[in-house]
Amino acid sequence: MARRRALKLISEKKLVKFIVEDANLTIYAAYSRRFDALYVTVPGKFCSCPSYLFDVFAKRISDSCIHLLAMKLAGNNLQEVEISLDEFTSKIFPLIFKGLID
Ligand SMILES: [Zn+2]
Repeated sequence: MARRRALKLISEKKLVKFIVEDANLTIYAAYSRRFDALYVTVPGKFCSCPSYLFDVFAKRISDSCIHLLAMKLAGNNLQEVEISLDEFTSKIFPLIFKGLID
């Protein structure tokens, strides 16, 4: 069940590895259902989505949110997007912020 949802995230190209060229920074993230928010992940360890906060971190009823599971299943097959720090700040960060407050 969770595995099928995770594979769907992969096939819908929701997982992205952002390479912020002029900041020497790599950010792993997953888009929300409608691509209108982003969750930042540390693969295998952390995700900024609500499910991670409540189910994994607070209640400990799950080992992983769907994004971390999808990251694990995707392995190195992540789409890479190279962007500048300006683009990251103006276009990507607002989506990350939306993912935090949604
Ligand atoms: Zn997550």
